Amino acid sequence: MVSFPVATDKERVDLSKMREQLDEIYEQSLRTLEEAGSTDELETWHRETLGRKGSVQLQTRHIGQLVPEERPHFGRRINEVKQALEDAYQERATALRAQELEAQMAAEALDVTLPGRRAWRGRLHPASQTLRDIYRIWGDMGFQVYRSREVETDEYNFELLNIPQHHPARDMWDTFHTMTPGVILRTHTSPGQIHAMRQYCPEPIRVILPGMCYRYEQITARSEIQFHQVEGLAVGKNITMADLKGTLNAFARRMFGEDRATRFRANYFPFTEPSAEMDVECVLCEGAGCQVCKYTGWLEILGSGMVHPTVLRNGGYDPEVYSGFAFGMGPERIAMLKYGIDDIRYFWSNDLRFLEQF
Ligand SMILES: [Zn+2]
Repeated sequence: MVSFPVATDKERVDLSKMREQLDEIYEQSLRTLEEAGSTDELETWHRETLGRKGSVQLQTRHIGQLVPEERPHFGRRINEVKQALEDAYQERATALRAQELEAQMAAEALDVTLPGRRAWRGRLHPASQTLRDIYRIWGDMGFQVYRSREVETDEYNFELLNIPQHHPARDMWDTFHTMTPGVILRTHTSPGQIHAMRQYCPEPIRVILPGMCYRYEQITARSEIQFHQVEGLAVGKNITMADLKGTLNAFARRMFGEDRATRFRANYFPFTEPSAEMDVECVLCEGAGCQVCKYTGWLEILGSGMVHPTVLRNGGYDPEVYSGFAFGMGPERIAMLKYGIDDIRYFWSNDLRFLEQF
């Protein structure tokens, strides 16, 4: 700020000199106003120029040094200068605010061309993926998914499936029993066959019965206490072993490859007669023999057979009129064969290093 000598009462000053001084203050103030680069600087300018102790206000102190008739004239002039500076200040303030806003917007600008933050996506468990593959294939062949309970009675899990009390075949299924006598965790999805037959009888049936099964076994690389099974059941008139083989072959080709060889081996299950296990040509060695197929060239993928007349009868169907076939497979086992997984414990150990590979 330019400071001006303040005249004492003793010094009489003439009006023209006072006006000259005021004009100089005015010009000087306009210049410093233009130089104000921020709203902060602008406020400082306002205080030092137009404030109570500002340079313009201080000029009013000189009024007394003028001859009385000149005083109103100079007073008016001071007010004019004040008003002009106030207007200039407002104009400058508006311009500065706009400038600052623009600068702020440029600095904090949203760059819409930046790639967005990627949303983390989960994925299906390999067992679920395999289950869905299985559903799709059977769905295409007209089989519906039939859901059945995981907690079963001994009657449904064993007796109605032609496995009476004390039958040695019960040794094939190590069972989890509950505190309620006769109530167990199902050891296979087969009891669902009885539920489905009793619900649909006497209509023909084409269902698959997927779900979790439980067995009281030691957990090793090849056996778990819980695992999925997908049971299948077709009941109707004139269903023969040829239908069983043709249908299961169609499934195996879609699941493991169009040119994959298959074979059936005779076996025993209490609820089917005759019974057969189905093998596919080893997917790893193409039948040449390797560690996974134990050098046989074949991998067992499911058990199957014609529904036992006793089971048909327990489901409400007359075995003299109706026949059917059933099969059961383990999706985890199929996933192990398909992807070369050597330990079934990976499925439920919740290790992301394993799960993220699928
Ligand atoms: Zn092999």
